[in-house]
Amino acid sequence: ARDLLFQSERIDVVSHLAASVAHEIRNPLTVTNGFLQLLGKSQTITEEEKMYIEYSLIELKRAEGIVSEFLAFSRPQSENMVYSNLEAETEYIKNIMTPFANMHDVQIQSSVRNTLKLRYDKNQIQQCLINLFKNAIEAMRDTGGTLTIDVSEEKRAVVVKITDTGIGMTKEEITQLGRPYYSTKKEGTGLGMLMVYSTIRKLNGKIKVESEKGKGTTFSFTIPTS
Ligand code: ADP
Ligand code: MG
Repeated sequence: ARDLLFQSERIDVVSHLAASVAHEIRNPLTVTNGFLQLLGKSQTITEEEKMYIEYSLIELKRAEGIVSEFLAFSRPQSENMVYSNLEAETEYIKNIMTPFANMHDVQIQSSVRNTLKLRYDKNQIQQCLINLFKNAIEAMRDTGGTLTIDVSEEKRAVVVKITDTGIGMTKEEITQLGRPYYSTKKEGTGLGMLMVYSTIRKLNGKIKVESEKGKGTTFSFTIPTS
């Protein structure tokens, strides 16, 4: 129980910080990116200097990734609130993630068999699903595979299951999920799952993770209809 309390306090602090900082950071990143691109086209700089610019652009992209995974982390905004069954979001995420899935030989299957409506912040739920889809696809990047999203209903709750046939996780790795900056990827931010846990927690939902090394992973979350 002490662990849980600690985790939720931590999420509140991070969430508050993200809300105030993320938007402010994006503009200077974009401007810097633009000028570096221009500089890269200069005829008077050496190959070595070009390399420095390349590295700078890669690191900027990393910073941009961190901000992206955080932007929707901000407090729910009233104009984003909808009362719906997640069908539109499922469809939308499937569409925008399909190019990334194709790149890695991943098929996406979706089914929505849920008629219950939830009140939620559209942006936050989309961001949450993007993070889960991204992780699922990245877990299959070397092998290809299938990503399945299934939305169904229980007594008074909506159940979302996202399954991949990727690398899977050990028990030890599962316990690390949601710890800020925990990442096993070279280019990872370790912020995606933190965002996911925070969003589901705000909806009074529960998350279950089932995983087997080398076989794949299922994230299920259950959100009560208020
Ligand atoms: P990032 O994706 O930037 O590494 P996340 O917070 O999204 O950060 O995920 C943290 C870590 O959790 C990942 O680096 C990976 O080790 C593990 N993980 C998350 N989702 C999956 C998955 N579907 N399959 C295997 N490992 C996963
Ligand atoms: Mg991720």
